[in-house]
Amino acid sequence: MILGSVTPKRHLRSLQDLRHRTRIERIVGRFAARFPAIWFDILWTSPTCNAQAFVLDGRQRVRLYGGLARHRRLSIAGIAWVMAHEAGHHLGGPPLHPHYFWLSSEERADEWAATRGLQAVFGRSLGRRYATVGRREAMKVADL
Ligand SMILES: [Zn+2]
Repeated sequence: MILGSVTPKRHLRSLQDLRHRTRIERIVGRFAARFPAIWFDILWTSPTCNAQAFVLDGRQRVRLYGGLARHRRLSIAGIAWVMAHEAGHHLGGPPLHPHYFWLSSEERADEWAATRGLQAVFGRSLGRRYATVGRREAMKVADL
C-alpha cells in the first residue's frame, strides 16, 4: 500500500522484454475484467517496488509499479497475489485500514485475496496455488 523502495536495476527485466510485459498485462487484464469497478494500470517505467490501492476522483484504482511488474524474482503467481491483495483493499470490507479508512486493512486484504479474489479470477485450484506460492514470492520482494 505505502510506496516502498526502488528495485535495483540488476533485478529488473528489460523494458524491451515484450513477452514478459504481455504476460503481466494479461494477468492484470483478468483482474480488470473480473472486477470492473476498479481501474487497473501499470507504470512500466517506474522502478518503485510496489503496488497501490487508492481512490482518485471517486474512482477505485489499483496501480502496479514497474519495479514489481519487471522484478526478476516475481513470477505470474507473485503478480497475481499482488493484484488480488490490492483489489482486496477495495473489496474486502471491514476491518478497515487504520489510516486509510476507505480501504480494507492489510490483514483483511490478504484474507480476501486468498479466500475470494484469486479464486474468483483463476478458479479454485490455481487460485489456491497463487495464494501460497504467489504470496511467498511477493513477501520476499515487497512490503505491500
Ligand atoms: Zn496492502
